[in-house]
Amino acid sequence: MIYQRVKGMLDYVGEEAAKFRYIEKCFTEEIKKYGFREIITPVLENTEVFVRSSGEESDIVEKEMYTFTDKGRRSLTLRPEGTAGVVRSFIENKLYARPEPEKLYYFAPMFRYSRPQAGRYRQFYQFGVEVFGDVSPLLVADLIASGDKILKRLGIKDIILKINSIGDFSSREAYADRLRAHFAAHRDGLCEDCRRRLDKNPLRVLDCKADSDHPAVIAAPSIADCLSAEAQEYFRKVRAGLDLLGVKYEADSRLVRGLDYYTDIVFEYIYEGDNVYRGLAAGGGGIYADLVSSFGGPDIPGVGYAMGLERILGIMEEQNLFPALDSGLVVAVIGLDEASKEKSLQVASLLREAGYRCELDYAKTALKPQFRLADRAGAGAIVIIGEEERKNNVLTVKNAKTKNQETIPEENLLAYLKEIENENGI
Ligand code: AMP
Repeated sequence: MIYQRVKGMLDYVGEEAAKFRYIEKCFTEEIKKYGFREIITPVLENTEVFVRSSGEESDIVEKEMYTFTDKGRRSLTLRPEGTAGVVRSFIENKLYARPEPEKLYYFAPMFRYSRPQAGRYRQFYQFGVEVFGDVSPLLVADLIASGDKILKRLGIKDIILKINSIGDFSSREAYADRLRAHFAAHRDGLCEDCRRRLDKNPLRVLDCKADSDHPAVIAAPSIADCLSAEAQEYFRKVRAGLDLLGVKYEADSRLVRGLDYYTDIVFEYIYEGDNVYRGLAAGGGGIYADLVSSFGGPDIPGVGYAMGLERILGIMEEQNLFPALDSGLVVAVIGLDEASKEKSLQVASLLREAGYRCELDYAKTALKPQFRLADRAGAGAIVIIGEEERKNNVLTVKNAKTKNQETIPEENLLAYLKEIENENGI
């Protein structure tokens, strides 16, 4: 039987895994500068955690969750997004007892059962951040700027930061009424999901993939006209913060996000380059004023965003942005007879202890296949051991780049490899 990977899920092997880890490293290094600490939560949560947070009419809950009943008859779900589990953990572990705002980041796999396509998978990784306890406009601006910084550090071009205010509760109620009135005459032309959404949460219609080209959706009234004075002022201050930090953005009154828990500010980092990822968000987030309290926790607001690793990796490949990831001198050790093989095993062990990546063939004594292995491993230095070398306690070392070959006393090996590193600019 031939097994295949699960549809929409990816393997990362070798160089791909190195790219994956490189992105992770850049993310974590940058976000730690902002004082975030890591949180690791289980892949599984009780299903209710996601239904409560994302909203029953969200695409995620309606169609995309991997939900199953375990042997104890509990309904469990593979997390489709990171925020809900972090909020659950924040409350359960009473992290709100700390005096400062809590700043947490995660890097973890997410699962959504949607149609796989470029930039959309069923298992994907998100890097996400959440701040609890302070959503003052400058903090929110700084948080949005941190996402921008990360994308810049990775070197990604053609990202447009879009930002909107979907208002406080009263603004959104007023807007929902307006949308209902607007769509009333067009109800029959909308998809089945949207007809249902109109009653429960009409904002969701604006985010529908199926109806995005519908003339009534295009002509829908703007949230900007319904924002309360407080919401407008708050939005202005967040934008002023971004201006202070020199972060470019576009205010887009049509931006709503796919999850129910957002209030006031929402934002997305949208890729506008010219390839298959065009128009997709590399990341996005917003403020959630009531999520913690809706989980039974204290009345503490939060703000966060999540970025998708696969999309970023794909865009970086398109833009040729990965540096040489396996840097450092690789050393191959060649043994030309059985006793020299034993000796090469010891030399390799010493070299690894000194921090070198080391390759050797454990069985073959012929020169050619061992040189081929060295070549495939990208060895910059090749240590050759034969009968002569053993007898005289010396080693022959070849610089693979300059082709220069020298015989040196065994004890000089590490110093000699340093010379090769200098010569080869490593
Ligand atoms: P969301 O939680 O939907 O706001 O997604 C945040 C980010 O996660 C998006 O901007 C994408 O980069 C990424 N993302 C969301 N869904 C997927 C998916 N199905 N496959 C790959 N990346 C995704």
